[in-house]
Amino acid sequence: MIHSVRGRLAFQPYGKDDSEVINSVSRAGLNRTLLDTAGRCDGVELHFNERCVDIDLKSATAHFENAATGKRRSVDADVVVGADGAFSVVRAIMQRLDRFDYSQKYEGHGYKELTIPQDVGGEFRLEKNALHIWPRRRFMMIALPNANGSFTCTLFWPLDGENSFARLGTEAEVLRYFERWFPDAVPHMPALAADYLAAPPSTLVTIRCFPWSVEDKVVLIGDAAHAVVPFYGQGMNAAFEDCSVLNDCLQRSAGDWRKAFGAYENARKPHADALADLALENFVEMRDHVASRGFLLKKKVEKTLHKVFPRWYIPLYSLVTFSRTPYAEACARARRQERIVKAGMWGVALILIAIVVFVAEAIWH
Ligand SMILES: Cc1cc2nc3c(=O)[nH]c(=O)nc-3n(C[C@H](O)[C@H](O)[C@H](O)COP(=O)(O)OP(=O)(O)OC[C@H]3O[C@@H](n4cnc5c(N)ncnc54)[C@H](O)[C@@H]3O)c2cc1C
Repeated sequence: MIHSVRGRLAFQPYGKDDSEVINSVSRAGLNRTLLDTAGRCDGVELHFNERCVDIDLKSATAHFENAATGKRRSVDADVVVGADGAFSVVRAIMQRLDRFDYSQKYEGHGYKELTIPQDVGGEFRLEKNALHIWPRRRFMMIALPNANGSFTCTLFWPLDGENSFARLGTEAEVLRYFERWFPDAVPHMPALAADYLAAPPSTLVTIRCFPWSVEDKVVLIGDAAHAVVPFYGQGMNAAFEDCSVLNDCLQRSAGDWRKAFGAYENARKPHADALADLALENFVEMRDHVASRGFLLKKKVEKTLHKVFPRWYIPLYSLVTFSRTPYAEACARARRQERIVKAGMWGVALILIAIVVFVAEAIWH
């Protein structure tokens, strides 16, 4: 649901019909589900508050420090799976190895999370079956519904400069800014200024690295291997895809961990890179293009082509979001489709020109 500055609403479905929707998932709920499932598996022990501070890559020995007591201990393992997120300690240790490629790129934009609470009757204050976007060219706000009737809003804005997070320091400034740019949201955000001033903005980073494993001892999965900006909503999905591909590779390698890790990282790396690019491009699309006429026309053309040729033409967004087509393959297919559509449009244009010339000549003579 697009919100204009004047409060006009425009609904654009993401998929072809109600069978293609994006679900909003509670982070805490997902964590609980994963922990409950892990807890029920044989041989799994859960330890909390244990921060990994070092790894011996050769022996797969992990060193932990307890966050509550400060007590240190070491654990000898057969294999260490580094699933410790974008600022992975495991990856940081791997960076010291020869020929380990690594890059990190911070965006000039950061983000702050704000809340639209449920109304007094416990109901949603905005349309609940939508991801709300307030696109404002160089910045934007989005709101995602939660199961309890509230919305989590995220404001993406430059960190520095004329029009940026750095410019708002007081409650009055915050309210003035929101009333200027998001006037229809302000009445639904009673704690807006306090929420805004409670914490500094968080940053957005893309991290690429390779290889993702060390011999048969250590392997990275999820954000530890490939952190992306959140604009395609695929970071978590990509982490789960890592798990299923690693699992397949382990089953096919008959106990040879080194072989499994090599097959896994080679299979996943091109798709992780493709997702990183897609996520960056979608930021520009969400904040800058979604409200433009050209974009809406393009979406209509894509939808019509998909309806007329459902097997042959599938929009990139649908390929990524509503199918299990790997990211790099989805991008390659979208490029092929675009080339054919462009060639078709040129063909139609040439035929029209030929008809006009033919008719003009007939009239002339
Ligand atoms: C603003 C924002 C919005 C997002 N929105 C979406 C979305 O809509 N859809 C989507 O699919 N993805 C989204 N993502 C991305 C998604 O959150 C990540 O891709 C996903 O959580 C990656 O999972 P992970 O398990 O690899 O890492 P994480 O979820 O970061 O988990 C890492 C875990 O490791 C632990 N840890 C870290 N360091 C250590 C250490 N030294 N020792 C021990 N434990 C450690 C952490 O406490 C954490 O529990 C978003 C990300 C951001 C920042």
